Amino acid sequence: MKPADLVRPEILALSAYHVAEAEGMVKLDAMENPYRLPEHLARELAARLARVEINRYPNPAAPRLRARLAETMQIPSDCEIVLGNGSDDLIQIITFTLARPGAVMLTPEPTFVVYRMNANLAGMRFVGVPLRPSLELDLEATLAAIRAEQPALVFLAYPNNPTGVLYDEEQVAEIIRAAPGLVVLDEAYHVYARRSFLPRIAEFENLAVMRTVSKMSLAGLRLGYLVARPEWTVQFNKVRQVYNVNVLTQAAAEFALEHFDVLEEQAEQVLAERPGVGEALAALPGTTVYPSQANFFLVRVPDADRAYQSLRAQGVLVRNFNGAHPMLANCLRVTVGTPEENRILITAMREALT
Ligand SMILES: *Cc1c(COP(=O)(O)O)cnc(C)c1O
Repeated sequence: MKPADLVRPEILALSAYHVAEAEGMVKLDAMENPYRLPEHLARELAARLARVEINRYPNPAAPRLRARLAETMQIPSDCEIVLGNGSDDLIQIITFTLARPGAVMLTPEPTFVVYRMNANLAGMRFVGVPLRPSLELDLEATLAAIRAEQPALVFLAYPNNPTGVLYDEEQVAEIIRAAPGLVVLDEAYHVYARRSFLPRIAEFENLAVMRTVSKMSLAGLRLGYLVARPEWTVQFNKVRQVYNVNVLTQAAAEFALEHFDVLEEQAEQVLAERPGVGEALAALPGTTVYPSQANFFLVRVPDADRAYQSLRAQGVLVRNFNGAHPMLANCLRVTVGTPEENRILITAMREALT
């Protein structure tokens, strides 16, 4: 027998998530914050990591890190925190927990593709509700789909990726109230959007808020966290791999969160650049720029494949969404970087579009 005879058909049908080679490029493809820890903090971190007992398994409950997160992020005391090896890990944990035979996962689309990938892997039926052409939520269609499909699980990226759009808070609340199952608000960009449902989590029995440190200068650590009532987290903890967050990540994240003001300042620097980058992109010939509450812009150009290749040739890496979804035809997604990176981006874009 060949592998193709043995592998599950839904896995044969998938393509692996593609990550472009970025060596030597101006890297504006993955919504990383461009700033590193200042030198003196990097040295302190090294000293802290040197003391970590890498000969021992991690404490799977990670009590110090969870306490630090609870304090830094003002997590309501009646909620529990589940840690993940990135929020990608949490998406998988949640999906596998709720994938009863016949269960449905519903999300507005286009959105973060990892939701759909996990529905496929876990054998959940996936229902995507198209966004409006403006990339805003189609509330009526979403509520109708929820009534018709009775999803066990709804993912809402708040703000959405790859569009950058932050859905209206009251519309999101209406979806949570209408949903018969769990609604996971994916707040990967909360430091840029400065909006969150965490303060309202007690209002809803079926709400979980998921976040990551990836978009706030710590993408290499791989740490996500899910905040929900204990009735939910007790189930997720059965599916979570016991040692999913390693000792170095636990120690480094604790350290970084002790200096959360530094991370917030790094987010501020990107936020200060955002309007200028948006305006400069919009001023280029033939572009449409969607309003963003995150650290990136979705830009429609006349020929995205050509523009992407030209940018690459000029040493600038962005993400090409042409072909990924009909509503993303000819769309590029560009991360907001340092002032210098943004200048290079705009110059290269101008060249790519002429
Ligand atoms: C980037 C991103 C994530 C991935 O987070 P990791 O913690 O790096 O796995 C999750 N959700 C959305 C919407 C994202 O854009």
